[in-house]
Amino acid sequence: MSELPRTYAIRTLGCQMNVHDSERLAGLMQEAGYVPVADVPAKAERATEAGDQGADVVILNTCSVRENASNRLFGNLGQLASVKRERPGMQIAVGGCLAQQMRGGIVERAPWVDAVLGTHNLDVLPALLERARHNNEAAVEIEESLKVFPSTLPTKRESAYAGWVSISVGCNNTCTFCIVPHLRGKERDRRPGEVLNEVQALVSEGAIEVTLLGQNVNSYGVGFGDRQAFSKLLRACGQIEGLERVRFTSPHPAAFTEDVIEAMAETPNVMPSLHMPLQSGSDRILRAMRRSYRSKKFLGIIDRVRELIPDAAITTDIIVGFPGETEEDFQATLDVVERSRFSDAFTFMYSPRPGTPAADMEEQVPTDVVKERYNRLIALQSRIAEEENTARVGREVEVLVSASEGRKDAQTHRVSGRAADNRLVHVALPEELSEADRPRPGDMVRATVTHGAPHHLVADSALAGELFEVRQTRAGDAWASHEARKAELQAEAEGKLPVSIGLPTLRVGA
Ligand code: SF4
Repeated sequence: MSELPRTYAIRTLGCQMNVHDSERLAGLMQEAGYVPVADVPAKAERATEAGDQGADVVILNTCSVRENASNRLFGNLGQLASVKRERPGMQIAVGGCLAQQMRGGIVERAPWVDAVLGTHNLDVLPALLERARHNNEAAVEIEESLKVFPSTLPTKRESAYAGWVSISVGCNNTCTFCIVPHLRGKERDRRPGEVLNEVQALVSEGAIEVTLLGQNVNSYGVGFGDRQAFSKLLRACGQIEGLERVRFTSPHPAAFTEDVIEAMAETPNVMPSLHMPLQSGSDRILRAMRRSYRSKKFLGIIDRVRELIPDAAITTDIIVGFPGETEEDFQATLDVVERSRFSDAFTFMYSPRPGTPAADMEEQVPTDVVKERYNRLIALQSRIAEEENTARVGREVEVLVSASEGRKDAQTHRVSGRAADNRLVHVALPEELSEADRPRPGDMVRATVTHGAPHHLVADSALAGELFEVRQTRAGDAWASHEARKAELQAEAEGKLPVSIGLPTLRVGA
């Protein structure tokens, strides 16, 4: 297989920041001449159960927020060690938050790892791999602070029709359960011009949806002295031609200001959805979490958003069983959930994260109590989400078709994607639909909601001969040409076409 290109695979274990960082890592690898292993079937078919995907370089992008993160990482690395023994030249790299935290400790426990890099120096990955290969020993490099803003690195986007753009990294808050400030440092804001250039570049490549990303988007601008910078950025995104959907994550309730709600309401391509972490409905617990808003302020923001954007779908994050949480505190959370009518909630059972202040707090809540409260919260939230989704039956939705959101689509003859308010929708295709009329990922489909479940909507109006409209988009075209290129690479790797890695194929008569 020596004539085949060197391949890589990335496993992302973590949050959206990590997913975005993985795109950067993929971009860097491709710039250095590596090819995604999925594009070289002869290598991909060597994949084992260790999660190596058959690649020559396996990169684990780790997270330290998940429970048992380090046990899982070393479990994964143990499995990869036996693959590496059988695969000459294979390399393993570890990046992400856990790498930033454990540093050289990773190679001490897993000496077969070739490269370790932190969250501040993604750009060194290809160089570390090269150095490790040359010196035949592990290369570890962790930076204490950011050298290159991650968004200035090359990127390989996961999707042709939607992309993330970092507006800031790090966080100036000090929530006591969170490791982010420790690992990712103080907030650093990108200049608006730079952000908008990146958004524009994405749109030029075919994207029609962009999500602005920061740990705390509402404090964007503090770094360069403009407290309204975020609302201005939203309005500026509204001016970008061809950009149909703008989303952002995550705002912090303490820093949420009226100008942002107004910008959301007045900018047509800013979508009517809001993800705003509550964490707890008890003011006493919010204080212990060192989150500086109170439940009244949180509910006030929700009321105001609904006043200006009546159809907004609001989602949240909630932690159950933070140290010291009493039944009364938990009840306060249930009350806020009941009032807020979230369309979805990401719920977490508290478990101590080493390195965070809350891990050392007394009064840790016993696991069985946490579980019992968690189940009550899930039951309440599921009921609310189902009621809210059922109330959508009969409404028209416009769905941006996704390549990956509907696992059962092939069996159910549907396509899946997100409505404007970010709800997941499964849409039935008309029975007699030609291949040419079939919506592609990136295209938009209009249909009527026929059923609401706690976590998704079904829009099967086509089956009754009612509304089903496909709007082909530039994003659908971009997806189609990306797929065509992939098929070409595959054919080359299988020897059906002359190899042309990185070079356009010359077709006689073209
Ligand atoms: S706002 Fe709090 S939870 Fe969010 S990243 Fe900052 S410290 Fe962590």
